[in-house]
Amino acid sequence: MANRREYEIAFVGLKPGSHEYRYEVNEQFFKDRGYTEILPISAQVKLTLDKHNGFMILKFEIGGKTTANCDRCGNLLQLDLWDDFNMVVKLVENPDEMNNQEDDPDIWYISRNDSHIDVSGWIYEFVLLSMPMQRMCKDDENGNSGCNPDVIKKLEEMEKQNRDSNTNLIWKDLEKFKKN
Ligand SMILES: [Zn+2]
Repeated sequence: MANRREYEIAFVGLKPGSHEYRYEVNEQFFKDRGYTEILPISAQVKLTLDKHNGFMILKFEIGGKTTANCDRCGNLLQLDLWDDFNMVVKLVENPDEMNNQEDDPDIWYISRNDSHIDVSGWIYEFVLLSMPMQRMCKDDENGNSGCNPDVIKKLEEMEKQNRDSNTNLIWKDLEKFKKN
């Protein structure tokens, strides 16, 4: 886990106002943090830190690409990452207590004595959150499914078999019922 410091911002020395940071993360970033099932990913994170007296606003803008398997046919898909997230970081006397009490997930407390803030946890979370929920092959211009036709045929056959065996079971139950 080389370069952990890369994600630590020494905010104490910063002037009030806006500061910009850029990060590039790939699947290794996630693997290093225990997420081993991740597919290839290339994400760019633009972080704007707005420093005020006693608090900071962190805006994370996520872009990039990832791959995922289609939910229907399993084909590998290219997906765009695109979203942004805001965090308010407040400097207080009792950060642990305040974090325990806080219900708003966009507010985080740190100690007034802190000089650095580690943004890797937020990058991890926000990049994953910016993945599209819908992971399906796109239809072509004629509205036909872009899914792998062999897989779809197989799925339809399996569905039909399921239906047929269910019908058989119903008949069997009816037979039993008549015999009784
Ligand atoms: Zn598909």
